[in-house]
Amino acid sequence: MVAEGEAIHVVFFPLMAHGHMIPLFDVARLFAARGVKATLITTPANAPVFTKSLANKIDLEVIPFPSEQVGLPAGVENFEYATGTDTLEKFLGALRLLESPVEGVLGRLEPRPRCIVSDLFLPWTADVAGRLGIPRLTFHGSGYFGMAVSDAMRKHRPFAGVEDEDEEFVVPGVPGEVRLTRRKTSPQLKAAEEKQSGIRELLKAAFEAERKSYGVIMNSFNELEPDYAHHYRNVMGIRAWSIGPVSLCNRSIGEKATRGKKAAIDEHECLRWLDSKPPNSVVYICFGSITNMSTPQLRQIALALESSRQNFIWVVRRPAEAEEEEEWLPKGFEDRTRGRGLVILGWAPQVMILDHAATGTFLTHCGWNSTLEGISTGVNMVTWPVFAEQFINERLITDVLRVGVSVGASQYFDRVVEVASVGREAVEEAVRRAMVGAEAEEMRGRAAELKEMAWKAVEEGGSSFEELSHLLQELRSFDAARADEYYLTSQC
Ligand code: UDP
Repeated sequence: MVAEGEAIHVVFFPLMAHGHMIPLFDVARLFAARGVKATLITTPANAPVFTKSLANKIDLEVIPFPSEQVGLPAGVENFEYATGTDTLEKFLGALRLLESPVEGVLGRLEPRPRCIVSDLFLPWTADVAGRLGIPRLTFHGSGYFGMAVSDAMRKHRPFAGVEDEDEEFVVPGVPGEVRLTRRKTSPQLKAAEEKQSGIRELLKAAFEAERKSYGVIMNSFNELEPDYAHHYRNVMGIRAWSIGPVSLCNRSIGEKATRGKKAAIDEHECLRWLDSKPPNSVVYICFGSITNMSTPQLRQIALALESSRQNFIWVVRRPAEAEEEEEWLPKGFEDRTRGRGLVILGWAPQVMILDHAATGTFLTHCGWNSTLEGISTGVNMVTWPVFAEQFINERLITDVLRVGVSVGASQYFDRVVEVASVGREAVEEAVRRAMVGAEAEEMRGRAAELKEMAWKAVEEGGSSFEELSHLLQELRSFDAARADEYYLTSQC
């Protein structure tokens, strides 16, 4: 128990990937804003994500990343660089070696931490927490829909008896009719159950650890996906607190513009450009923090944007060894789209752009953060999933919430879209459907309602605000002496 008025100390430990560090940093800031003493653990190359200006109430604990011990080049400390089986396996090996340093940090911090909030993919933190007699809360980079459908896919393997890669099947055991295909399913999941790989072992450990944990912090709000929140809590039996959308804690332009990495465009220049455009006249295109498009695919997107005649901001991520611009942009593209198109090579101030009145449509890879950021800013979406649970999130956006149209991507790629998998016509058609006409306006109307619901949820008295209050209350009264008893009863 903590004395009345005394601050509890909570430690946050995100996975080293921008799609996980950015939202968990927002969670830490939400806790800190509610009087919690917050400490965040990270490694040297990832520390700049937690910029001083945003982290003024958060202490950073920087521990070395054991790159050399696992044979990774110095500075390779982020999932972003863990491409290819060999590097990925080494990266996962390095994560496991962090157990002892993290336990050391937790053991020496003052006042004694009351709880650790750590990423799903750092499962050993549950054992560390158990040894220290403190609760571990799991943080997912996903929402209820994604978690529930992924769980059903793992349990029921509905793709197993399907021969045609493009034949749709309905995922059993979850509310609604969620339709997927084998081609949209991850190769790890489809592989024979006995086939082992580092990522498979990690997933297994992650879900086992989730069962040993105190509960889950979900970056979602109850009103967004109520059937799936109910399913997660009552059918899957996992305690969860919905405290999102966490990106809404970024209120000022500065906060919105400096999330994650330093943007490759000056925020004022970007705002001036957006200010010069009419409301809902810009399509914003971004595939998140780790997806790359091949040159042929980039060219198809460029051609589609050119012929769509819409205003656009296009964020392009290119591997370091990629060719010069002329190689992937059609000749004369920039001249022909001057004034109505902005290409950002590198990192964009995404939330700032989405939040601007000129932005009307978000062409997204359906990463959970991007999905929720689109929902919280009231834009409609064009969905183009690539990997992880993104094909599942697409179904939420297009079929359940009905705020987006699909570009028709049908193939799962492991982060790199190697070929021109979606042609120019399909991109142009989906962008047009989302940007102009009655269907576009209907989707925008629904998106505006979701935005309002999202804001209500995080305001004082709203569902996410209250769930965080309840969680903090529980953590304050957590009795370490009864931890064992608690963990046994919390397992399903
Ligand atoms: N993001 C950003 N600028 C970029 C690319 C990504 O601010 O140029 C942010 C985006 O706002 C989101 C996160 O990075 O918060 C990406 O997370 P998401 O779950 O959408 O996708 P992932 O990167 O994990 O595939």
